[in-house]
Amino acid sequence: MKITEDIHQLKVPMSRNPLGKTYSYLFKNSKTLIDTGVPTEEAYQGLRKELNKHGLQPQDIENIIITHLHNDHIGLVETLQGYGAKVMASTIAAEKQASIRDLSEVFFEQTVAETKLFGGAEYLDLLYKYEFAFRDAPNPITIDRTLSDGETLKLEGIEFEVIYTPGHAQEHIVLHDKADRILFSGDHVLPKITSHVSCHSYEARDPLNEYLTSLDKIKDMDVKHVYPAHEWDFTDLKGRVEQLYKHHGDRLMEMKAPLKDGPKTVYQIGSIVHWDSRPWPEMSFWTKRMAATETYAHLIYLRNKGEIQEETRNNTLYYSLV
Ligand SMILES: [Zn+2]
Repeated sequence: MKITEDIHQLKVPMSRNPLGKTYSYLFKNSKTLIDTGVPTEEAYQGLRKELNKHGLQPQDIENIIITHLHNDHIGLVETLQGYGAKVMASTIAAEKQASIRDLSEVFFEQTVAETKLFGGAEYLDLLYKYEFAFRDAPNPITIDRTLSDGETLKLEGIEFEVIYTPGHAQEHIVLHDKADRILFSGDHVLPKITSHVSCHSYEARDPLNEYLTSLDKIKDMDVKHVYPAHEWDFTDLKGRVEQLYKHHGDRLMEMKAPLKDGPKTVYQIGSIVHWDSRPWPEMSFWTKRMAATETYAHLIYLRNKGEIQEETRNNTLYYSLV
């Protein structure tokens, strides 16, 4: 889809994911892409076909800007980098890539400890069965140029303001094309689904607080069009941000409510929430694990605001009203 003479939205298929595709954005003059899609042959061929429509080959891409390090955004980076493209991402992204191997060595042990902490001891047998999957160290990608918050990135025919928007991912950035009043929002703001905001027990962070602060940062921006990495483009940025505030506000109340009956674990609270995807009993352990880290992010937020308290008993966290 043509956005301006220079800017084009490319569809990169992802048929095994319910989202169906990642949008990659092509800037023809500078031969630059924002995000790349998953690391599959299907995605590569899809991207190749989309580039062909513009008289380009994957080998012609000179720059890739990555909004964040999730697989559906960085999947084809290694291939394109092999052809000579330069990769740009936030400073945090570069720091994370540098420590990826050290972290993956302890990933399984951390996941076992976290499952216990969250009150999910009943899932440990299942987790041990899949230990092998945690032992596969991912390949770090090389980031050639780091981008910092507020920086102006000048490429041929286009200029972006880089805005650091941690929350969905700690390293997330969005890109503001001021001249065209366009925001490339990555997964920070999507038109319908709410971005997954999660926290692990071994991270000393408050991702929901980061996320809401990152929404504050963009909500009053003067943009006429938002181009996200999934779903579809939209115009009312402020209206969408208001909906996201409400969603998280409602969810915080929903998670606090069961605590009036006494202390609860992360898994207990997660099992009571009304999830958009499917009801808790129908979720696989892997989906429950994602829901648990999302629950935990909300609990950490409430704890840090002083609205609930946390205590550890027998290696399990319990939350209660103050
Ligand atoms: Zn994504």
